[in-house]
Amino acid sequence: MCIASPYYLAKFYFAVEKTSQDQTSVKDDCELSSLDDGLKLIDDYREDIVQFMVEMLKIKAVNPDGGGKGEFERALFIQKWLEHLGCKVARHDVPDTRVPEGVRVNLTSIIEGEDSSRTLWLASHLDTVPEGARELWVTDPYDPIVKDGKIFARGSEDNGQAVASTLFALKVLKELDIKPRMSIALALVSDEESGSKYGVIPLIEKGVFNAGDLALVPDTGCSDGSEIEIAEKSILWLKITTKGKQVHGSLPQKGLNAYRVGMRVALEIDGLLHKKYSGTDTLFDPPLSTFEPTKHELNVENINTVPGLDVQYFDCRVLPRYSLTEVMKDFESVKSELERETGAKIELTPIQLEQNTAPLSTARSFTE
Ligand SMILES: [Zn+2]
Repeated sequence: MCIASPYYLAKFYFAVEKTSQDQTSVKDDCELSSLDDGLKLIDDYREDIVQFMVEMLKIKAVNPDGGGKGEFERALFIQKWLEHLGCKVARHDVPDTRVPEGVRVNLTSIIEGEDSSRTLWLASHLDTVPEGARELWVTDPYDPIVKDGKIFARGSEDNGQAVASTLFALKVLKELDIKPRMSIALALVSDEESGSKYGVIPLIEKGVFNAGDLALVPDTGCSDGSEIEIAEKSILWLKITTKGKQVHGSLPQKGLNAYRVGMRVALEIDGLLHKKYSGTDTLFDPPLSTFEPTKHELNVENINTVPGLDVQYFDCRVLPRYSLTEVMKDFESVKSELERETGAKIELTPIQLEQNTAPLSTARSFTE
């Protein structure tokens, strides 16, 4: 990730906090000087931000759904950092038997504002996806390298830059002893990469956020911090299990090759969905819905066995104008047709299904 990003983002957060309530007051000399002081202090912290990120990114935080042990250690590292700064930190543990510690950790820390009835939340996530094929990495994904103005490591961009920049924005507010107009808070959450079931969703259910609060979620953007995302595609992760009959590779006529049927499922789905949901919207990047066959589980160890079981996954990112219920119906129709035709049994299991709402109607760039 480009070093400029957390640096500009920290400046952005600081400036947002100083200007969000009353645009006119920023013209006031006193306000301007504290804004300038804050931005200058962030300039001075540039190397510290880089160093912090390097240390944090060494701590693996791979989501358990991606085969990792979760965010526990990284969360504790950040909790310690915040407490060292003199911040009060609340820990919100959510039970998860898949991780060694038995809980997924979420942290919140609030600086009380002049008006404490409302809070501006800066929400970033601690977990990462796994590194993928290790041999495709030029450097060790868990031994961050700083090179050519960039930090190379798993999760430096997503979402390490947001964690670092929001922490340093908070540090500057504290060091300048600024009482924000409204309360300002960090939410450092788990499980964003896999549906937020152990992260922001339980925090919402617990009542951590109040109606009327504002939130910035720095999980996208550009290196100068001027881009604001106002919409997300809907998401569907689907597991497709195809059951046939396993036999010796020399006698395929006695079995039913689940791999072949699975490939047909994937190809037919791929063709159908791309054709049917072909609308575009330039608000999104890419501007169209995507339907990608991604993970494929190992079927047989050897070459001379016809597989009786095939397990594959699709990652679909769909423009919010389309209904995921409709998309699922299309998967179902391909499934039924191929079951009839081949005699295989096909199961569809949604791993994540989240219909997103329409984009916000207006947006104004921060730099305008
Ligand atoms: Zn992210």
